[in-house]
Amino acid sequence: MTGTPLTETLIAIQSRYSTPQTVSFHTLGCRLNQSESGALAGGFDAAGFEVIRSAQPADLCIINTCSVTAQAESRCRALIRRILKKKPDTFIAVTGCYAQIGIDALRQIPGIDLIAGTDHKMSLPTLVQAIVGQGADAARLQKRSEPLVFHSPQINRNEFTVPNLSVFDHATRPNIKIQDGCDFFCTFCIIPYTRGRSRSRAFDDILLEVSIWVARGHQEIVLTGVNLGEYESSEKNLLDLIQALEAFEGLERIRISSIEPTTISNDLIEWMKTSTKLCSFLHLPLQSGSDKTLRHMDRRYSRQDYIDFAREAKEKIPKLGLGTDVMVGFPGEDETAFEETVSLVQSLPFSYLHVFPYSRRKGTRVTRSDLPPVNPATIKQRTKVLCALSDTMRETFYRRYIGQKVSVLFETQNEAGLFTGLTDNYIRVGVKTNQDLSGHMLPVQIQAVHNGLAMGECI
Ligand code: SF4
Repeated sequence: MTGTPLTETLIAIQSRYSTPQTVSFHTLGCRLNQSESGALAGGFDAAGFEVIRSAQPADLCIINTCSVTAQAESRCRALIRRILKKKPDTFIAVTGCYAQIGIDALRQIPGIDLIAGTDHKMSLPTLVQAIVGQGADAARLQKRSEPLVFHSPQINRNEFTVPNLSVFDHATRPNIKIQDGCDFFCTFCIIPYTRGRSRSRAFDDILLEVSIWVARGHQEIVLTGVNLGEYESSEKNLLDLIQALEAFEGLERIRISSIEPTTISNDLIEWMKTSTKLCSFLHLPLQSGSDKTLRHMDRRYSRQDYIDFAREAKEKIPKLGLGTDVMVGFPGEDETAFEETVSLVQSLPFSYLHVFPYSRRKGTRVTRSDLPPVNPATIKQRTKVLCALSDTMRETFYRRYIGQKVSVLFETQNEAGLFTGLTDNYIRVGVKTNQDLSGHMLPVQIQAVHNGLAMGECI
């Protein structure tokens, strides 16, 4: 029996209203943003929403923004406009660093329904639930003529917890957020203004999250934060945390993501030297090899301090994978300063460099100085020099492993059909196989280095 058009419409409406509302995520920026989007997705899942892929039409779209440079902000605005055009009926919530400091610009974009600054970001599932209500009586999200704004200019400094676990299932190596914010105020950096001052996640809350990831079968975790070395909770520091995490059976690797050189204790290096779980890997932002530029940046070390620390770490841990960030074209960086950066980089056994061309960022301290800007063509040229150096250093580091057996935690298949994964000292290894190796830790014999990959065969 077929119903009347009216009955069919009513049935269609009824079935639409009985299905869970869907939420999708668009995340820009750093590893920390990725980790926070994962936790937010977990929160929406717990609140009864269905988390779907970002390309699908959704009832609610969360845009987690980045504000690290003027270009990053412009990319955020372009993405928001693209989504508004493609999904005009979707309820749009914007959060992240740009929602904290770019609130005036965001208010100018018609179609945004909710803006949540830093202090309100992790409460988004609760905020949205408060709008729609709960359970069977929950209303559908409706577009608004004006955005709801949740924003505090002063960001909370208290210890925090992360109530929800990511439901994104693609992370072989989940990022565990243990710290947020920074007190260092380097002159080029906006983070202390977007994420606030340094604060740590409660010690037991981290252990709880990691225990769940391990129970799900994850063998590696990546400890993530803005200034990880500043971690402190219940009189426990970063090393105490690592030692407690090493007790988890089934957890094979603990990796520290980027960490400020001046915040690493000797004890941590000594521990890395002997630990079988703490990865032999340090990503130590250098930014510049010139003392003059380091002073202009208000970094907390000299050229020599950095060299001494990196050399000592490498001497103690010979297989250490050592990566760094270098900023090119910081105001006042003359030819001598750049040459000092190049010579420092060449004198240390880095396995890769992340090279960032400086771009003027309104609101940072350096914009109030009278340091002369560097010509964009010079910045481009210097970036090229360092990128080429990075390729050579990676190749040299990888080549040392030809003929050796390494342990690889496999992640995904690349466009060339190779399955790739990482060693504990951050060598990206690729193997030819028809099997799905994701999530498996396997011994591999390295045979060659090609296109930035150490090529090998599973033993
Ligand atoms: S230490 Fe890092 S996060 Fe903190 S102000 Fe400096 S660059 Fe920014």
